[in-house]
Amino acid sequence: MQQTFHPTSVQKIGDELAIAWSDGQESYFPLEALRRKCPCAACQGEPDVTGTVVKPKQNLGKGCFELAGWQTVGGYAIQPRWGDGHNSGLYSYAFLRSLGGAA
Ligand SMILES: [Zn+2]
Repeated sequence: MQQTFHPTSVQKIGDELAIAWSDGQESYFPLEALRRKCPCAACQGEPDVTGTVVKPKQNLGKGCFELAGWQTVGGYAIQPRWGDGHNSGLYSYAFLRSLGGAA
């Protein structure tokens, strides 16, 4: 899939993740909101056989809203590593842009 934008800079600034995009936009994501939006199956649930998604209770332990680090994955997503060790969420660029946070 061809992306029309990608991050040119990803920085943690205070309690926000700041992303500068190749098309000139900048986004600022509060870390707590970003963690709560974690798109992994453990956080957001998976459809059952009838297609119903039951959102599980997120396991938000100590340090869960602290960003310990991140890596970019496959040129299409950012994978944050949170202070509680959780790192299974892949935040695709399109997903991040859909969350807003535009300055
Ligand atoms: Zn998750």
